[in-house]
Amino acid sequence: MELEKFIRDVPDFPQKGIIFKDITTLLKEKEAFQHVIHLMEEKYKGKHVHKIVGIESRGFIFGGVLAYLLGCGFVPARKPGKLPAETIQEDYALEYGTNTLELHVDAIAEGENVVIVDDLLATGGTAQAVAKLVERLKGNILGIEFLVELDFLNGREKLDGYTISSYLHY
Ligand code: AMP
Repeated sequence: MELEKFIRDVPDFPQKGIIFKDITTLLKEKEAFQHVIHLMEEKYKGKHVHKIVGIESRGFIFGGVLAYLLGCGFVPARKPGKLPAETIQEDYALEYGTNTLELHVDAIAEGENVVIVDDLLATGGTAQAVAKLVERLKGNILGIEFLVELDFLNGREKLDGYTISSYLHY
């Protein structure tokens, strides 16, 4: 399936100079959404995944469905102040601005196999921060899944050593 035609480019959002890759135009088409989920599922079927970590907020959309299909748990990596119990935090730089992400301290047990999921890989800071959080909890990262990768931002370099999958490249 030609996934590219389902992604909408929104220039100057959320600030001037950024071309925002809008995935809502893919999510609302059932066949395109199913196709993406199945691509991710195929990669990790039978790989003994214990937890999918979805990155707020678009990573939740893919991550929840994927966890259901793989028969594993789902863990949200959230922005500060959203998770109610004890958390660990990592700060990172974004393509636009800075941010912090958190995980509950008991979200992942030592040695559990983890797949991290987000919609898009840009500079890689977000996924790198989540990978650090997972490793602080002694999770074993099997891979990191993205729908879209912005190749020109070289996010992969920050994620050197991890198995990265993305299905659409710009
Ligand atoms: P980064 O940390 O630079 O890899 O940024 C990745 C995160 O920011 C993902 O959660 C994306 O949803 C979001 N993001 C960054 N740049 C874009 C973009 N051009 N279009 C859509 N989302 C973006």
